[in-house]
Amino acid sequence: MFDYLIVGCGFSGAVSARLLAEKGKKILIVDKRNHIGGNAYDYYDDNGILVHKYGPHIFHTNSKRVWEFLSRFTKWYLYQHKVLSYVDGRLVPMPINVDTVNQLYGTNYSNDTISEFFDKVREKDIEINNARDMVVTKVGSQLYKMFFEGYTKKQWGIMPEELEKEVTARIPIRTNRDDRYFTNVYQGLPLDGYTKMFENMLNHENIHIMLNTDYKFIKSEIQYKSLIYTGCADEFFDYKFGRLPYRSINFEFETLNQDYYQKVGTVNYPNDYDFTRITEFKHLTGQKCYNTTIVREYSCSDGEPYYPVPQSKNQKLYLEYKKQVENLENAYFLGRLGQYRYMNMDVVVDEAIKLVDKLK
Ligand code: FAD
Ligand code: UDP
Repeated sequence: MFDYLIVGCGFSGAVSARLLAEKGKKILIVDKRNHIGGNAYDYYDDNGILVHKYGPHIFHTNSKRVWEFLSRFTKWYLYQHKVLSYVDGRLVPMPINVDTVNQLYGTNYSNDTISEFFDKVREKDIEINNARDMVVTKVGSQLYKMFFEGYTKKQWGIMPEELEKEVTARIPIRTNRDDRYFTNVYQGLPLDGYTKMFENMLNHENIHIMLNTDYKFIKSEIQYKSLIYTGCADEFFDYKFGRLPYRSINFEFETLNQDYYQKVGTVNYPNDYDFTRITEFKHLTGQKCYNTTIVREYSCSDGEPYYPVPQSKNQKLYLEYKKQVENLENAYFLGRLGQYRYMNMDVVVDEAIKLVDKLK
């Protein structure tokens, strides 16, 4: 008899498992994949380069509590992510900052004067109702078209007008020359990789793990008192209210016989090609070796569920499932899939810590 059956061995499952194990609870984690770490899983490819199987993962947070918790299981490579966007045949800083504007328009704005420019071009007197409004009210329709419209259409398969404003609100507009993608206080990658960090976190006598194990095939065979479920909420209930849409990605990896492929960790391609972005892992991990591996991301609607799609109709459908979860006894849903929320890793860790605090 286990105290907790935890479905999914990503951040949500592993963090809650560790914290509960430290309280003396006996835990069984099952994951249908053949590895731990969920979407943060990394491994050394055939050329000895550390890559992220499910796309680039950069850890960033303002939460000291989250950073300190993970720091129990890893040291950090203090990487700060940089992104360039390929626009009109040039590579310019993304998020849009003073240099982006100056490079595109041949202007000479400074941190003190750039607001004049944004004030001149931004759309005024409109309510911010969707992902397009969020951008045009800050930088106007020309920069929106250059940087956001095409990328968002590729990434989500629908127009920005059809998405919640939170999607593009993730990307700030800068009135300075800071060219980092994130400005959180704590940023980095686990020094020996995410998988190693997960191994350390899960290394506890009260934690047992079964990989290649789908919850739906074992649920009647395992005895447990409580359930923490981090898979898709609609799947758990046999899709009885309908399917929640997810966006998926095809990852195309390529190893090149050269030292570096591009200048920075990620280059976004809002308007050219079918992929959204190219990431070169050596920038992220700091690994030194002769070859280099890159990954191109092609968004698609079928495949593994990676992104909940932020639209109000989907949120409404999810709330139907959430009501069902609340009626279950001793069952808790966590994570990007379980809570149908577009969350970064730090938020997921924080939610898991909060749940275990509540379970006290
Ligand atoms: P997951 O990592 O998805 O883990 C859920 C696990 O449950 C999976 O391993 C799955 O196999 C398992 N599972 C599901 N159903 C079942 C079942 N029926 N039976 C058994 N097991 C099951 N966040 C950042 O903070 N920074 C980034 O740079 C970043 N980049 C990202 C890039 C991409 C391309 C993607 C897709 C996400 C990125 N994220 C990033 C988000 C990050 O991946 C998530 O916040 C985090 O992985 C969520 O953890 P989780 O445990 O909720 O879910
Ligand atoms: N986005 C965009 N252009 C870019 C980068 C992002 O239009 O160059 C929009 C797009 O809608 C994307 C969202 O902003 O889905 C969030 O971007 P982020 O880089 O946070 O996406 P993630 O890393 O989660 O895929």
